Amino acid sequence: MDLGSESLRLRIKQLLEKPGNGNCADCKAADPEWASYTLGVLVCHTCSGLHRNIPQISKVKSLLLDPWNSSELEFIDSMGNNAAKAKYENIVPAFYYCPTYRDCLLLKEQWIRAKYERKEFMCVERQEAYSAGYKEGFLWKRGRDNGQYLSRKFILSEREGVLKYFNKLDAKEPKATLKISSVNAAFQPDKIGTAHGLQITYLKDNSTRNVFVYHEDGKEIVDWFNTIRAARLHYLQVAFPGASNSELLPKVTRNFLNEGYMEKTGPKRTEGFKKRWFTMDDRRLMYFKDPLDAFARGEVFIGSKGNGYSVLPGLPSNIQGNHWLYGITIMTPDRSFLFACETVKDQKDWMAAFQLIINRPMLPQEYAVEAYFKHKP
Ligand SMILES: [Zn+2]
Repeated sequence: MDLGSESLRLRIKQLLEKPGNGNCADCKAADPEWASYTLGVLVCHTCSGLHRNIPQISKVKSLLLDPWNSSELEFIDSMGNNAAKAKYENIVPAFYYCPTYRDCLLLKEQWIRAKYERKEFMCVERQEAYSAGYKEGFLWKRGRDNGQYLSRKFILSEREGVLKYFNKLDAKEPKATLKISSVNAAFQPDKIGTAHGLQITYLKDNSTRNVFVYHEDGKEIVDWFNTIRAARLHYLQVAFPGASNSELLPKVTRNFLNEGYMEKTGPKRTEGFKKRWFTMDDRRLMYFKDPLDAFARGEVFIGSKGNGYSVLPGLPSNIQGNHWLYGITIMTPDRSFLFACETVKDQKDWMAAFQLIINRPMLPQEYAVEAYFKHKP
């Protein structure tokens, strides 16, 4: 039986007001306008599109635009987002990355599939792909200098505390060994130019290296990501005994605070401004000639207000030469760094990222990083 439009609107309003239903069941976006009437959850527009890819599991309709009958609404009412979470997210491992609406489509899609299609969080045996402390397999890796993607064997071993990859199939020695202690991983589909693109960064001799990889299968690359997260959490638990998971989880993997092109000038300011790709990773501002370069051309450490760091909009008045209009000056205890942004919005975003870091007091281990940058040859 179809409901009359008045009583229908009322029923839906009541449904949305129930605890948990005010945000998308999958990505937490506010005010979901769609619902899965086979799973009994309320979801946002983006997630409803992902539910459509698993029609054998989930059938979705628009709460406002589609016709509804009583039994469908009754079922959604009897489940709802909180009960669905208790059922489908019963045992999500602490390290497992639960995406939000800010994340890329791949992470959301695999989260939805992991929950409802593969039911990975209802049964611990289904989590072995990323919980075993060891994973090996082939990934397409971008060549360091030629930019060509080639299939390479990767091994992650928690026991050895490393992620390594091999160039030749029969090679005994890995081409590179990345210490888990310094590894970060972040999905970068736009930058890498493929929906499954994962950027892995690590420190070698205190400078940052980038490895760009992908896998054709979305599940496989997200499994790699969560395997890296598991290894990172277990490493941090040993390195910082007594720290709670909620303190450690933000350190497991980090999304960059900001990324994009700015112009910069050197300390002598005689060469003029050069356009570079900048990445703000916590307190490290790195710059590259190309976004997909294997290593940074240079890095600037950004400390805290209390240690003599500050950021100002604009450039000193005596600056010569052509440059983008919207300047930023970062003062450090040693020198000032000058940057120019193409748009007001870029300037605002970069200022906000720098300010965030400068306003945060420094941690003891960050002083060692600062000292390294100060005495860098
Ligand atoms: Zn959503």
